Amino acid sequence: MQKVVLFGECMLELRQSEANTMHRSFAGDVFNTAVYQKRAFAQQQVSFMTALGQDVLSQQLVDNCKAEGLNCDLVRYSTSHNPGIYLVQTDAQGERSFLYWRENSAARQAMKLLDEEVRNQVCKADVFFFSGISLAILAREDRALFWQFLNEVQKAGVTIAFDPNYRARLWESAEDARQQFALAFTASSMVLPGIEDFSVLYGLNELKDIVAFCEPFNIKELVIKNGGNSVFCRAGDFELTQAVKPVAKVVDTTSAGDSFNGVYLGARLAGYDIGQAIELAASAAGLVIQFPGAIIPNENFKALIDQQILAFEHLAK
Ligand code: ADP
Repeated sequence: MQKVVLFGECMLELRQSEANTMHRSFAGDVFNTAVYQKRAFAQQQVSFMTALGQDVLSQQLVDNCKAEGLNCDLVRYSTSHNPGIYLVQTDAQGERSFLYWRENSAARQAMKLLDEEVRNQVCKADVFFFSGISLAILAREDRALFWQFLNEVQKAGVTIAFDPNYRARLWESAEDARQQFALAFTASSMVLPGIEDFSVLYGLNELKDIVAFCEPFNIKELVIKNGGNSVFCRAGDFELTQAVKPVAKVVDTTSAGDSFNGVYLGARLAGYDIGQAIELAASAAGLVIQFPGAIIPNENFKALIDQQILAFEHLAK
């Protein structure tokens, strides 16, 4: 069975639904990626690696992961910390704003709770995925532990996949993020950035400049997402720019990149070529943005993915 480990934070999401009522769900970039990968490729073992607390919310979060089919064997439990929370507010113009309580979350302690069992299991995986958010939230004093761990995982032959997902407010400074990202680019053979990550952090707006920036690193598969415009991929001598099908009514772009990543990772692991993986991932993301929130109803998601996979299989015959 193909195995993927995704390392990051999942939080309780609160969203005002009616007067004095909050709709609650669970979300976080890497968690969203894991959910969409598992939904699209149920045959793969998708493990979510994180740290939670020993509280009722943590239990509900794990139950939610399990209900999505995620493997939770790599979740560790802090005795002193609890999960993070965020509130999504939408103003009269439909603009969303986010309020976070995550500075003291259990996920920040994940490296302190890393044990031999987790190390061994991750070293047996096919792919290890993490994001710039996974890095940003780690307790600063634990960064060295993370890079040491990643080095072990890489040496064990696991494909390292990374999405920078730059969020300025999570970093002490842009320079701090650039330093950490340089280590991530060096360690990763698959990198899945959004074009915006590079424009905000490095002042690079043109695709060719981003590709040139990535050139010195040993990235085997570079997939650059450019919103509703196109997706670009370079893998060795292979290059592809694929136009994205327009979506008539975008409701909420939360999780667009995350769902793209999950489906792309799963598709590549399942043996689809880069063009097919991009097509599948982009149509998944195109659907996700037509619903509010990070995680959309599974029946809508599955219907689209299954139909497309069937079309690929038909073509292959
Ligand atoms: P990120 O969130 O990582 O910055 P993007 O914003 O580029 O990523 O979006 C990820 C993917 O979601 C895109 O590659 C595309 O497939 C899809 N997507 C995003 N915005 C749109 C849109 N307006 N119309 C159609 N598809 C979109």
